[in-house]
Amino acid sequence: MLIKGLVKTTLIDYPGKVACIVFIAGCNFRCPYCQNPDLVAGYWELPTISEEEVFRHLKSRKKWLDGVCVSGGEPTLNKELPEFLRKIKSMGFLIKLDTNGTNPEMLKKLLDEKLVDYIAMDIKAPLEKYEEVVKTKVDLEKIKRSVEMIRSNDVDYEFRTTVVPGLLSSEDIEKICLWLRGSKRYYLQQFRPDVTLDASFRKVVPYRREEMLKCYNIAKENFKVCEVRGI
Ligand code: SF4
Repeated sequence: MLIKGLVKTTLIDYPGKVACIVFIAGCNFRCPYCQNPDLVAGYWELPTISEEEVFRHLKSRKKWLDGVCVSGGEPTLNKELPEFLRKIKSMGFLIKLDTNGTNPEMLKKLLDEKLVDYIAMDIKAPLEKYEEVVKTKVDLEKIKRSVEMIRSNDVDYEFRTTVVPGLLSSEDIEKICLWLRGSKRYYLQQFRPDVTLDASFRKVVPYRREEMLKCYNIAKENFKVCEVRGI
């Protein structure tokens, strides 16, 4: 597995937990607003971190860390992921997985084996707009299957959408809410133009607070927990 980043401690990425973050390279989407472009394109130039180094870190912080966030890129593209997670679990840590939901087969395996404790799945757009937003071909059935699998499992989870001007409007958020209605948690995330996969998106001005709150007001009735992040 190509591990290309390790954030040793985070208080904000795993809700309610102290965690570290492991970044795995490679992604099958090309979201132009991606905040981790080095993990999507050009990651072969980044130094690789060995699994041993990750496990050494976990061992040294056993007393302080509750869990590990496994992020990317898209971690489920790696066949070795279940084995990696088994090793983390055997050390007694909780695991949060960040995913774009394109690999329901892998998700099923992880859920069946109870290898994940929290799943954060990106919802990029209403289904009919997915390919336009992620700039690649998408098997929408797989996205739908991942959503249904997560919702019907007893794993803790969130769905989240980055609201990018020019890609998503409040009408799109309304369509997403109709699709996800009744889910446990839904987060609307503010777009950040500082680092983006497509350099032209660094000029895109994020939605104003009022516009994000308009999306929140559309969304909030549909979920047990609904919040806006980053405004
Ligand atoms: S935002 Fe996520 S899904 Fe999109 S390209 Fe970046 S890592 Fe891949």
